[in-house]
Amino acid sequence: MSIEISGENPTRNLTSSRLVPEDEGELSLRPRTLNEYIGQKLAKDNLRIFIEAARRRGEALDHVLLHGPPGLGKTTLAEIIANEMGVNIRKTSGPAIEKPRDLAALLTNLNDNDILFVDEIHRLNRSVEEILYPAMEDGEIDIIIGQGPSADSIRLPLKKFTLVGATTRSGQISAPLRDRFGVILKLELYTPEELKLIIQRSAELLNIGIDPSGAEEIAKRCRGTPRIANRLLKRVRDFAEILADGVITKAVADDALTRLEIDRLGLDNIDRRLLRSIILQYGGGPVGLDTLAATVNEETVTIEDVYEPYLLQQGFLTRTPRGRCATRMAYEHLGLPHPEENGGNSGQLKMDF
Ligand code: ADP
Repeated sequence: MSIEISGENPTRNLTSSRLVPEDEGELSLRPRTLNEYIGQKLAKDNLRIFIEAARRRGEALDHVLLHGPPGLGKTTLAEIIANEMGVNIRKTSGPAIEKPRDLAALLTNLNDNDILFVDEIHRLNRSVEEILYPAMEDGEIDIIIGQGPSADSIRLPLKKFTLVGATTRSGQISAPLRDRFGVILKLELYTPEELKLIIQRSAELLNIGIDPSGAEEIAKRCRGTPRIANRLLKRVRDFAEILADGVITKAVADDALTRLEIDRLGLDNIDRRLLRSIILQYGGGPVGLDTLAATVNEETVTIEDVYEPYLLQQGFLTRTPRGRCATRMAYEHLGLPHPEENGGNSGQLKMDF
């Protein structure tokens, strides 16, 4: 058996925090209770109280909005809420609900206190969103019967339900929709310590041999994201089985991740290309997001949702009103001289992509 790691960009799927086909089986790794859910202490502590209070009153939980970059555990948390409340969950996504009647069908099929989970809720279209307002606020929907001048509207009461919305773009949610959520929770990128626990838990579930230093190494290089941590764990296991004795140690993890072109600080090819481009083509910035996206041949939303959060959090990038700028740390990490050390003339830097 040989391991094929050549190709245009072997890390492309590995470090994308969006769901890719090789995440199949992710379900089995999903924690089922709040106690099993690692990290996000603030969100978890608050939820615990709200869930307990709603349970004691025998009521539906207030509507919950979860926001944060992809792969941080929003869907997992929605399922945990349903599990802890002892109710059913119905899962859908903003773009999947095309017409108001699709949403009406979903809502009228819910049982008492059930959860409707809408992923990418910022992508709901306006006419669908308008059905949600009275549903969330008054527990009823308006249904139009018939067509043309004889059309009539009737109000239909709904069972008490909880809407759990998830979004990577809280800024794109309209104010009226946002105002109808009683609980708004922001998920943060995970710390290496939390990711180490997540990796050790997943390794145990998947029966993968890993020592603590191996888990730490992957934890430092997975962009603060559990989905990527689990994906890297599976890939590093391949290297451990073929090139070592099957156990993931620090050395095995380091070697495997380096072969996969994920560097010591967890940056992949695209991260490095982004930073390089800001520095070499735009003198370190500021450069507008659209221009940058076109330069590195990525979609603007991918840069904003997937790449930027980690680069900002790690201090490689700053966001200014005029665009993105590379920090001194980015120059240092890429081994490029900072303009101040270069007589202030960053234009002298040579392009070498
Ligand atoms: P999102 O909906 O935010 O894109 P998911 O809920 O699908 O993210 O989470 C992706 C994967 O990461 C899950 O399958 C789960 O295994 C893992 N995961 C996420 N959050 C946690 C956590 N807090 N503890 C353990 N595993 C987690």
